[in-house]
Amino acid sequence: MRAKRNLGQNFLVGSHYPERIVQAVAPVPEDTIIEIGPGHGALTELLTASGASVIAIELDHDLIPELTTRFGLAPNFRLVEADALEVDFCSLLPSATQARVVANLPYYISTPILQRLLTFRHCLRDLTLMLQREVVERIVATPGGKEYGYLSVLVQFYCTAESLFDVPPGAFRPAPKIWSSVMRLRVRPEPGAEVSDEGYFIELTKSLFAQRRKTILNNLRASQSRLGLSDSTQISAALSAAQLDPQRRAETLSIAEIARLANLLANSK
Ligand code: SAM
Repeated sequence: MRAKRNLGQNFLVGSHYPERIVQAVAPVPEDTIIEIGPGHGALTELLTASGASVIAIELDHDLIPELTTRFGLAPNFRLVEADALEVDFCSLLPSATQARVVANLPYYISTPILQRLLTFRHCLRDLTLMLQREVVERIVATPGGKEYGYLSVLVQFYCTAESLFDVPPGAFRPAPKIWSSVMRLRVRPEPGAEVSDEGYFIELTKSLFAQRRKTILNNLRASQSRLGLSDSTQISAALSAAQLDPQRRAETLSIAEIARLANLLANSK
């Protein structure tokens, strides 16, 4: 089993973790599951055995023959040779299907894949993902701690996020240097706060967290033109209307507070 480091290949081998992950998913035959990076099929085997329809997306051409031989005859299995960073997830699905995503993600691109999945959220129901533990900690973080940042706000705006369990390096071949965690995201029917312009809310969040040590006032001033603001009095006025102390740091802001500020700033543009 030779692993390609440049494709983030750390295969789950010889442990009960594939069972634990699939138990957490609890797939049923009515489910449609998108698996990203099936690799040698450690999760695929259990997912297909559940009777759910499994669509597996694998980039490594060398893994395709093995996956086809093992699962190709199963009527509930479809293999798509593609880059998860380019594939249109929703177009793989029958219309009106809300798919469930399961993946032991390649860590070198785990965050971009996650961000991309969020853009396809309207055809996704939930996502059970294994990532670097440190990234999961950032995603599920709440305001006030040093892990809380842009990624926490972005993911929690669209999903409820829950860390399920940790996985040690020894569960993988080759073993990575770091611990991993499995988390579950459930796509919210509506975003976690009411905003008039989602794109603007996301741009504002990026700006607020641009330099964590700076106050929100200074971060906003630095991004003034990117936020479409012609003068800095608009920033002070919006902060005051949103009842936010300009000296606060972004890591203390709740999603509701950022949304309030986004709506006021978007209106004053
Ligand atoms: N699911 C298997 C397991 O748990 O043992 C393999 C997980 S391994 C961490 C990541 C898998 O993602 C590998 O099979 C790798 O080839 C594949 N992969 C890497 N980059 C990818 C991409 N951009 N799109 C789709 N698959 C990718």
